Amino acid sequence: MDHFLYKNGALYAEDVPVSAIADAVGTPFYVYSTATLLRHFKLFDDALEGVDHLVCYAMKAASNQAILKTLAQAGAGMDVVSGGEYMRAKAAGVPGDRIVFSGVGKTAAEIRLALEGGIRQFNVESEPEMVVLDATAQAMGKVAPVTIRINPDVDAKTHAKIATGKSENKFGIPISRAREVYRLAASMPGLEVIGIDVHIGSQLTELAPFELAYEKVAELTEVLRADGHTIRRLDLGGGLGIPYARDNQAPPLPSDYGAMVRRKLGHLGCEIEIEPGRLIAGNAGLMVSEVIYVKSGEDRDFLIIDGAMNDLIRPAMYEAYHDIVPVKETAAGVEQVRYDIVGPVCESGDTFARARMMPPLAAGDLVAFRSAGAYGAVMSSEYNSRPLIPEVLVHNDQFAVIRRRPTFDEMINRDTIPEWL
Ligand SMILES: *Cc1c(COP(=O)(O)O)cnc(C)c1O
Repeated sequence: MDHFLYKNGALYAEDVPVSAIADAVGTPFYVYSTATLLRHFKLFDDALEGVDHLVCYAMKAASNQAILKTLAQAGAGMDVVSGGEYMRAKAAGVPGDRIVFSGVGKTAAEIRLALEGGIRQFNVESEPEMVVLDATAQAMGKVAPVTIRINPDVDAKTHAKIATGKSENKFGIPISRAREVYRLAASMPGLEVIGIDVHIGSQLTELAPFELAYEKVAELTEVLRADGHTIRRLDLGGGLGIPYARDNQAPPLPSDYGAMVRRKLGHLGCEIEIEPGRLIAGNAGLMVSEVIYVKSGEDRDFLIIDGAMNDLIRPAMYEAYHDIVPVKETAAGVEQVRYDIVGPVCESGDTFARARMMPPLAAGDLVAFRSAGAYGAVMSSEYNSRPLIPEVLVHNDQFAVIRRRPTFDEMINRDTIPEWL
């Protein structure tokens, strides 16, 4: 459920007409709903009620400071994957002991940053990383709390680019080598091993792959405890999918997921961490764009809009489907027509949808891409020298620009000219 609904024939973001935001900031833009962000966070938080837990929002999904602050004030921790994300989390007021640091390629500089500013745990992904973490922590006179990310070799049954839990993926340590790697970690004075981490992929639409992975985590917990390790925290990753198409069967709910987690892991007495990103932010955001031209082709009509692949890359990158709806509600009985919906970028990959049934639209009409809140703005670029599009946050009947559109000059003046020119 989200808070983007039609009222009196127009699409609203909570109590704000989407067209009013377009008038104020121009198109294209992203708009997020505070109520939806908080609702989704609470669904996860409630799903683990009664278990010692922390929901660490995977901020790579949408990392605007205003979004982070909204979630942090509701009690969320953060899962970060770079020094930049760590600094963003701190800037949004998240205390270090609510930040977990994931990722296969943490640099010594990033590790130092987190050890200095405070960290809940590092999710360590390899032995070489462990060596650097140990050395860095010791040099700073600190002990780094760590969980080790294991790769359970489970098929997440999702798009290849976002599957992370198979043995051929770059992530984690093969579960078959876990005992040996935990032994090594335990011998390092700069590390304190506290648990196990797993994350098998994103946009999972069934619970079965999670169940398989968590069964392996449960088994491994017993084995490692028998080996003498303290396993008191289980980080279960993120990955629960969202419904992108309204008519598709919806993925399992956070409450189902939470019940499954209790069933598989509840008996172990561990603190549970989860790292949802997409499910919190995905359906909390729209990308809104204006039709520039309707162009009749030989065998199809093109809806050319002012948003493009640089603004929302998911269709080009993951063959992702987004519902695209007119901002002005279609009157009953209007016959739908077929469009290819494309942006202005000079690549055929800049295609959002082919043969999409839509009401007849004209230049100047607004369309909204649903489910664009996660992996939307954060993956945008200025390809074709199209300035980054603004982000707007709605709260009841208020809205605020939370990242403004740079001017052409600002975009150009980030470049510097060498002396010899
Ligand atoms: C990307 C990622 C997540 C979030 O995944 P979602 O599918 O957005 O929930 C969580 N943990 C790790 C380690 C990740 O890389």
